[in-house]
Amino acid sequence: DTQIETLEFQAEARQLLQLMVHSIYSNKDIFLRELISNASDALDKLRLAAFQDKELQADTTDLHITLDVDSEARTLTVRDNGIGMSREEVVTLIGTIAKSGTADLLRKMKEAKDTAASTELIGQFGVGFYSAFMVGDKVTLLTRRAGETEATRWESGGEGTYTIETVADAPQGTSVTVHLKPEDAEDHLFDYTADWKIKEIVQRYSDFITWPVRMTVERDGESMVETINSMKALWARSKDDATEAEYNEFYKHISHDWTDPLETIQMKAEGTFEYQALLFLPAHAPLDLYMRERKRGVQLYVKRVFIMDDCEALMPEYLRFVKGVVDAQDLSLNVSREILQQDRQIQLMRRRLVKKVLSTVKSMMDTEKYQTFWKEFGPAVKEGLVNDFDNRETILEISSFETTHDAEKLSTLRQYIERMKDGQEHIYYLTGASRSTIENSPHMEAFSAKGYEVLILTDAVDEMWVDSIGEFDGKRFQSIAKGQVDLDTEEEKKDAESERDQQQKDFASLLTWMTKSLEENVKEVRLSSRLTTSPACIVGDAHDVTPTLEKMYRAMGQ
Ligand code: ADP
Ligand code: MG
Repeated sequence: DTQIETLEFQAEARQLLQLMVHSIYSNKDIFLRELISNASDALDKLRLAAFQDKELQADTTDLHITLDVDSEARTLTVRDNGIGMSREEVVTLIGTIAKSGTADLLRKMKEAKDTAASTELIGQFGVGFYSAFMVGDKVTLLTRRAGETEATRWESGGEGTYTIETVADAPQGTSVTVHLKPEDAEDHLFDYTADWKIKEIVQRYSDFITWPVRMTVERDGESMVETINSMKALWARSKDDATEAEYNEFYKHISHDWTDPLETIQMKAEGTFEYQALLFLPAHAPLDLYMRERKRGVQLYVKRVFIMDDCEALMPEYLRFVKGVVDAQDLSLNVSREILQQDRQIQLMRRRLVKKVLSTVKSMMDTEKYQTFWKEFGPAVKEGLVNDFDNRETILEISSFETTHDAEKLSTLRQYIERMKDGQEHIYYLTGASRSTIENSPHMEAFSAKGYEVLILTDAVDEMWVDSIGEFDGKRFQSIAKGQVDLDTEEEKKDAESERDQQQKDFASLLTWMTKSLEENVKEVRLSSRLTTSPACIVGDAHDVTPTLEKMYRAMGQ
């Protein structure tokens, strides 16, 4: 018995679909890229599943993707014989959007007035499967999960609801049929039933897909099946052999990002432990960069076979935004996450990958790209100052900071040091919640009066490293809010000292009284030479935690 159920899309999903139906992208061709990308992922997953589970009843002998055109009916079907989906999976994977930060993104998109800004925003998200609704007014999905006997048929017009039914039989894998919009029928730019058009799109966006993409074409009055992608693993090619456009498309495929990467990094190691790596620095931070469950973006392949996503053994936490592929020649296809964590060769490889990423950032430093990079990923990179002892020096080198020197421009530590005053020995900084709180801090007064530049550290992570980091280039980091900071010359000191002795006598009884009155809150009340306009300020001991850090510890329940 076949019973058709009508279900509603989750609210967020509905909103994203609306954007697709009303086509905010000018480039509709990419729907095909998204469908092929999903098919390719499904084939990767099946090969891996079959490898891990010998009992799995699945045919893996001829894994491929087929494109089928019906010009009469005006449909285009993307079919794969990959892992497929169970009915439950169809409901959760296609009917809802599980990604964290979705609601947040949609709110921002509403606020963004012009379409350019919202296109930019949605690019940070990637709408994947839903992009089929840019060109179709109806989409039908038929799928059977490998190892299962029943199949599922899903259909929607992209408005509020979809229908779903269990069907007795279907080939293993998934087929997605897009019923092309009638209004595009006359426009040959959107003729997704034309062989040339489909070939062009596949070659532009999906050429590197490692599975064959096949299509039936008419040649000399005969129909024949043709493989229309080259299937060349991009990471295995030399840099001269691939174009920037190819790298960009590959990046979009593996990252599910819709914007080009900021930088492409290619590496190759030969010898005892052979591997190739193709890494990317994205142009913007993902929405969940600072959420705990967030995964790392490097995929592991072994001899061209996809093994796993988010391979944490290949990238440290603080570089979790780096995307890419590492293909190792000498690992077993059976390798597990646990084995990887302990493998010495993998650790060596990771060390080299990290160094390469950091040196690439360093080489970008005089460019606009670096500014973008730092704005998007700076706070994450600075986590490395706490965790990656080996690379501290380099990380400090590639870091930028706000300073009192220039309200508009960030500054590197090198630049800070070049501007240091004669006789200045330390790198001065103050941590706080925002630039303005720091600028208005009473601690700042003596420093601005004397013309000393102070680093303005406002990221939460700054509290974690700046205390323990010690020094950069022989200059110690010194908080202007802690202990005694000495800003005077010898001459000034002598004068000040005698003045202070006098004041000390004058105010002795007041200080004793204040210390006693405030006993519960402060250790000591003393005269200060560091204030010029404020009457009083609270100073931490040299070894105290700062107020922000105190707050952080409390938030963490310590
Ligand atoms: P993404 O690919 O970024 O996860 P999509 O919207 O493209 O997002 O797809 C959503 C999910 O639906 C996929 O993660 C996958 O689990 C499932 N899916 C989509 N297409 C297929 C397919 N052809 N075979 C199996 N699962 C699929
Ligand atoms: Mg996808």
